[in-house]
Amino acid sequence: MTTEPSLPCILIAEDDLLSRTLLELYLQQEGYPFVSAVNGREALEYFKRTPFQIVITDWLMPEMDGTDLCRSIRNLAGNHYTFLLLQTCQDSPEAMVEGLEAGADDYIIKPINPAELMVRLKGARRILDLEKSLRESLAELREHSIRDPLTGAYNRGYLNQHLEHEIQRAYRYRHPLSLIMCDLDHFKLINDTYGHQVGDQVLQQCVVNLKASVRHNIDWLARYGGEEFVIVLPETNASGCQVVAERMRSMIAFCPEETANDAIKISASFGAVTLLPDSDPIHRSGPDLLQRADVCMYQAKQRGRNLVVCEEQHALLHGGSDGTDQH
Ligand SMILES: [Mg+2]
Repeated sequence: MTTEPSLPCILIAEDDLLSRTLLELYLQQEGYPFVSAVNGREALEYFKRTPFQIVITDWLMPEMDGTDLCRSIRNLAGNHYTFLLLQTCQDSPEAMVEGLEAGADDYIIKPINPAELMVRLKGARRILDLEKSLRESLAELREHSIRDPLTGAYNRGYLNQHLEHEIQRAYRYRHPLSLIMCDLDHFKLINDTYGHQVGDQVLQQCVVNLKASVRHNIDWLARYGGEEFVIVLPETNASGCQVVAERMRSMIAFCPEETANDAIKISASFGAVTLLPDSDPIHRSGPDLLQRADVCMYQAKQRGRNLVVCEEQHALLHGGSDGTDQH
């Protein structure tokens, strides 16, 4: 007998040795992997360690009975659904109602008929498959709802929500938090000269370059507007932020977008702000940080573009060394 890898592992809760042995035999014959517990309490301990997809439980057991086990499992908020099959000696409608009320999905009358058990398990797997595909579709929908479709960066809705979380976290742990506003220089000119398709490619390439300049899984970026991006850098002080912004600036200025006819020179202006919970006890909001970064970015534009302006030092780092001149 070989075990099909697609068959889910089943948790058995049964106190009676003969019934348990028979149940194990039936499952084994069909290739279902299983783990057995001798009462509800033991089964619950196993379940807490491994959230099984299917549980077959006896009703009457010492320490914790089948309905209590069903209720306890339902109270544990898991990432996926668990199908609960309750075994009972009683086939009265009242018993059935009580069992299903406790959270069981289905019930089976003892002594168990193996053919009946297998069709019940088939039904269980159908439900679990449906639940899985529904969960995946929801995750996909959620992903779409927080992303900008053109660049794959987070969208503004995500930014508004998660920037507040980052700020709260910065105050809680008293860690600095930095934010960079990036705006592509003369972007309208690119759209007007080369068309919107090329403009879109430029935006996509910019996001690739911006992402390459930050820490994976820690820093994140969102598309703020047409050609404006916000980069959020948790646990980053002003000097660290300045280094990152400068890296982004030079990377964008160094990577011209190749088109069919010529290479388009791109540059961007950056405004950077840092929140320091230790020296700034007033709780700052997301819009406040964004507005301050915007002011710095505007200064960078005014000072000639292709530039980083940091609020903290009011530093001016001009990228003259790479010889780009896009103004
Ligand atoms: Mg029993």
